[in-house]
Amino acid sequence: MNIVKKLITRYKKFNFKENSRPEHLPIISKNRICGETINLPIALTCQPTKVCSKTCYYARDTTAIKNNLQKQTEVFYLIENNPIHAAKRISKELTGDFLRWNGGGDLTDNTVICINHLAKIRPDVNFWIVTRKPKCALKIKYSKNVYVQFSLDISSKNRLIFFMNHLEKLIQPPQWFVSYQCDKNEILPGIENSGISVLFYHNYKNNTLKPKSYCPLNDAITKNRVKTYPNGNCYTCRRCFSDESLLLKNESKLKLWAVKKPVFMEKNNNDKHIQLRLFASNEKDE
Ligand code: SF4
Repeated sequence: MNIVKKLITRYKKFNFKENSRPEHLPIISKNRICGETINLPIALTCQPTKVCSKTCYYARDTTAIKNNLQKQTEVFYLIENNPIHAAKRISKELTGDFLRWNGGGDLTDNTVICINHLAKIRPDVNFWIVTRKPKCALKIKYSKNVYVQFSLDISSKNRLIFFMNHLEKLIQPPQWFVSYQCDKNEILPGIENSGISVLFYHNYKNNTLKPKSYCPLNDAITKNRVKTYPNGNCYTCRRCFSDESLLLKNESKLKLWAVKKPVFMEKNNNDKHIQLRLFASNEKDE
């Protein structure tokens, strides 16, 4: 089921006005797993991959109810209308020492302007920017308090190739690393040697294969419920907004891994044997 498509259809029916977030209302949202977040509407910002269209938690949780969609829309227009003013407001509202950008949603050109300004005026805060959009990610300025998490899955590895090819042309690229979201039944030969920094299994199901990139949330979340909170969360881990993510990254390995074919585990219903089958994937981004 394409849950993102379903959400976008619902979103359009609400016919939200193009109003900025009112001055007296908060911009930042609070999430018990990943702390303070900026959430933006999927319908106006995302370029979903095939995997996130099926699995996106943000398209089916409380973040997808009408009130929250309205808040996301107002935050979106606030940033689009005046990214510098938005940065100043966010700066005043922040209470912690890190902020996750895109708890849901993705970057736009004006969002990048907002982030670049915010990073300058709040050097005391680490900004954790999650994106699937390489062109926008390339516009984020280098700053030692900004960490760009380039989020990939089986249907979007080609975005990494594009991203890395263009990074080489930048004088001072942003600090970045790769996270990988597994598809259902996908298995990962050589993942421990891939150069990625954060690995999420399908539905955050824990797994005995635990490379250094293994995200602790895989052990902490069962059926979308946190079972070990407060230990299984980003406050305690902090990898994605610290140099730990950069130390786990290996660019030469990433280049090799990006062109590797994916492997799935498949059930053969005739003889009940589990087979490994190589998929010559020619999936393209949607
Ligand atoms: S690696 Fe750590 S900081 Fe990153 S998503 Fe997982 S728990 Fe959060």
